[in-house]
Order: sequence, then C-alpha cells, then structure tokens
Amino acid sequence: MEALALPLAERLSQLGTESAFDVLVKAQALELAGRRIIHLEIGEPDFTTPPHIVEAAIRALHDGFTHYGPPAGLPVLREAIADHIHRTRNIPIHADQVVVTPGAKPIIFYTVLAVAQQGDEVVLPDPGFPIYASLVRFVGATPVALPLRMRDRFAFRVEDVERVVTDRTRLIILNSPHNPCGSALSPHDLKQLADFIRGKPIWVLSDEIYSRMTYGTPHASIASFDGMAEQSIILDGFSKTYAMTGWRLGYGVFPKPLVPHIVRLMINSNSCTATFTQIAGLTALTGPQDCVVTMMAEFAERRAAIVEGLRGIPGWECLMPQGAFYAFPRVAGLGGTSQELADFFLREAGVALLSGASFGAAGEGYLRLSYANDLSHLREAVHRLAEATSRWTEQQTRTTSSLG
Ligand code: PLP
Repeated sequence: MEALALPLAERLSQLGTESAFDVLVKAQALELAGRRIIHLEIGEPDFTTPPHIVEAAIRALHDGFTHYGPPAGLPVLREAIADHIHRTRNIPIHADQVVVTPGAKPIIFYTVLAVAQQGDEVVLPDPGFPIYASLVRFVGATPVALPLRMRDRFAFRVEDVERVVTDRTRLIILNSPHNPCGSALSPHDLKQLADFIRGKPIWVLSDEIYSRMTYGTPHASIASFDGMAEQSIILDGFSKTYAMTGWRLGYGVFPKPLVPHIVRLMINSNSCTATFTQIAGLTALTGPQDCVVTMMAEFAERRAAIVEGLRGIPGWECLMPQGAFYAFPRVAGLGGTSQELADFFLREAGVALLSGASFGAAGEGYLRLSYANDLSHLREAVHRLAEATSRWTEQQTRTTSSLG
C-alpha cells in the first residue's frame, strides 16, 4: 500500500537550523568509528553549573517548587532581573517588564511573532545567529542582511543600516557580544545607531546573551541610550554566564506595551518556566559572582592561546574576540569554500568546527571555532589544524598545477 501523504504547513519549509547540531552528529559518528575528535563546534561553556546554584534547585524541589507558576515568571526573580538590568544598563526597569522563559531563544521567537508578518522586513546581522533569519522567514517576513566585515572589526556601519532600512522595516536585531564573530559593539557604534533609529517606528531586539562574557571592555546596550528603552527589547539569560545551558532559563525585558502580548504568547506555548529552575536562577543572579569571574579568567587564557595559535597558521587571519567564546578566522586565502574546509578539518584533522557560511552569506571565507574547551585540547586542535592546512594547501597547489 502506498504511504499516505499527510499534509504539512507550507511555513515548515522556511525553518532553518543550527549547523552546530548537525556537525555534532557527524563528529559523533566519527567517534563511534574510533576517531578522537576535538569539539570546537558547540556554543556552550564546558564548565559545570556552580554547586551553590545546583543546591538551590535541589532545595527548591524539596520546598515544593514543582507546580505551575505565573506565566511571566516568579515575581521574586522578575524583581531581581529588573534590578540587575537597572544596574548594568543604567535604565529604570520595572519588574513587570520582565518575562522569564525556558532559555533565551523563546524571546527571539516571541519578539519576531509579535512584531513582524508577511510583507515586513527585519534587519539582522550577517554573519549572525542562524535562528534570527529562520524565524523571520517562518513568520512570512523577509530577513535583510546587515553586513559585518572583518575590516570593521565585525561591527556594523551605520551607512549600511541607513541603506537597508525601508518603510517596511519593523525590527532590527543586534547581537553584542556577537555569535559567531566574537565582536562587541562600542558605545560609539550604538550611539550612531540610536541617533538614526530613535523615534522611527522600528523595534530593536538586542540579543545580549553574552553580556557578561567580555574581556576587559564593559558591555554596552542600545537600550541605555536616550529614549531607546521604549523601542528596545533586551534578551539575556543564564545559559552562558552561569554555564546553565541545559537548565533552559532566559528572559526578555520589554517596553510596557509589548508585555501583555508576550505573556499571552508564553501562555499559549509554555504556560510558564519551571519554577525550581527560576529559584536556581535567582540564586545565580543574587549570590556570589566569583564563579563568573573565574570562568571568564579561564576563557581569557584560552582566547589568547587559540588566537595566537591560529594566527601562526599560514593562510589564517584572526581578530582578537572582544566577547563570547568564539574565534572567527578568515581562511578565504586557502581556496575552497568554508564548508569544504570545515568538512576537511573534521575528516582529516578530527577537529569539529563550523563553516562561516552557516551564519549567512557574508560568513563565506570564515570558520567559527568555539574555545569552550580546555587549553590542552585547544593547543592540540591548533597543531592538528596547522598540519591539515599544509596538506590542504599542497592538494590545492597540485590541483591548480595539474589544471594549468
Ligand atoms: N542568542 C545567541 C546569539 C546565542 O548564541 C544563543 C545560544 O547559542 C542564544 C541566543 C540562545 O540562548 P539559550 O540557550 O538561553 O536559549
């Protein structure tokens, strides 16, 4: 009997994915076949969640935080987040502007659902986190690339923003510190953008999930600029800062008129975020912060090691990341596409990393390496990449001379 062709919604064909998960699957298949793979593909801290946060969750479970909670989050956590945002972004925030979600990703989903539809345009960084363009297409809107270039240290040019914004633009998505480029927007960059966007009927989604992961230069937010809090949504969370990716805990801070709509989206999808997880988040935010300082000191050491190592490989150019834990070297000079190179390095060197093109067309010619791995593995990865690069270059030369 022929299989029944059951219907699927057309919009499913618009959903993209995150290539990190695809590469992880390929890398694990090689591991099953006995290869030793160094994992530089996945964007999560390799540290364990600090013990005092784990203890807080266990206590909360024993204390009965096992039921539904308020859709927007526990008031005590929303208060603590409002206070944190007030202190770190220097803007007055009321707890009722905060919506707590299972991970920060739903904040992207809800914002795009709430403000963009068929015929609208959403400006987003290219290269950028692939989920932005995926969701924009999913709701029938059009993603419009805001190019980020290495020669501009991967910050946007305000002339480019002016060029791509039209009367159909509903939303601009910013991400600083940036995945995949490791760049950070300066107060100067943000002021220029604020001066252009202020008072226009355009929202800004400021993805600040890496706000605590900077190296010396403090994080700057678009929402801190005069009048911009009224147009801006701040996305932040616990996944990266406190090594809590698996807990699923994030939040958004919204201008007041958006809040009831976002809460309704939450009611229609998740009901609420797990309450014992929220208690753990409260402990994370209000408890000792030395765990963050220690983790960042370790990341700083790894950053120095990987950048120095990659810069030493002929054909690789690498800027010093300003935030997050990603190196985004340019390898265009080696020939071949980023995807071919990423496949080659996985197969030949046993190093799992991502093609820059999986973050947008402007990522072609680059690779993303997550340095959320210990120093000895990073050194070994650099060594393997150097050897594989020389084999790749020899191959390229042979191919060119045989063609010539
Ligand atoms: N935004 C960016 C730029 C990210 O890189 C990630 C995670 O990789 C997220 C948002 C999502 O964070 P969460 O795991 O809290 O949903």
